[in-house]
Amino acid sequence: MIRFKSLGSGSTGNATVVQVRGDGGVTHLLVDCGLGIRTLDKRLAEAGMLAEQLDALFITHEHADHIGCARHLAIRERIPVWMSEGTWLGMGQPDFGGLLRIACDSAPIEIRNLRVDPFTVPHDAREPLQLTCTDGAVTLGVLTDLGHATQHVLDRLAGCATLLLECNHDRAMLEDGPYPWFLKKRVGGDWGHLANEEAAAIAQSILPRGLRQVVAAHLSEQNNRPDLARAALVDALGACVEIHVADGPTGSAWLTA
Ligand SMILES: [Zn+2]
Ligand SMILES: [Zn+2]
Repeated sequence: MIRFKSLGSGSTGNATVVQVRGDGGVTHLLVDCGLGIRTLDKRLAEAGMLAEQLDALFITHEHADHIGCARHLAIRERIPVWMSEGTWLGMGQPDFGGLLRIACDSAPIEIRNLRVDPFTVPHDAREPLQLTCTDGAVTLGVLTDLGHATQHVLDRLAGCATLLLECNHDRAMLEDGPYPWFLKKRVGGDWGHLANEEAAAIAQSILPRGLRQVVAAHLSEQNNRPDLARAALVDALGACVEIHVADGPTGSAWLTA
């Protein structure tokens, strides 16, 4: 069984715990670590966990809202930290004290009874990866921070029962909002972030392959609203798919993939 919980989502910091329970025991992976160490410890406690229960850390890319206390946490807990070589270079080649593991597109990672499949996404970072997680029975897709859906992304997500999916902005709110012109271009561009409708189209494309649940994540505080993200997903997916919206500061409840 796979459960997961967003501990925070969006520009204030992204972190998601993925838990697998099975024959091999209980495994916990933290996907991204864009919070300060005290906040992370507090959110883990609120989730009923201790940081020492984490088995590994996966960093999707080097933007500040995803790396936060990654180095501090990995070294304190002596856990491996996976990221692409480009992400490590983009972070300024920090010393992880022998705990760094290099992740690549299409190279599966086994963390006890949890299998992670990283894949390349178009986003304005050095070598960003997003991922699917499976216990062999159910697959959870984690897809935040991408500018547009490539065929590669869609192929990798096919068969996911649950998606934690970026719904970054509402196009009209971004257009009319307070961002300067260059930032509107960046966020709305092919290497920025997904609009609600783009995210909904991604989910819709894998709907026939068994999608059951979507958690809208990485919502912009300035350029989106939870009700707009939810409405775009419901429009595209209908009533058969369960929809949740992760809150920026507090994330989501524990959910089963
Ligand atoms: Zn981000
Ligand atoms: Zn980013």
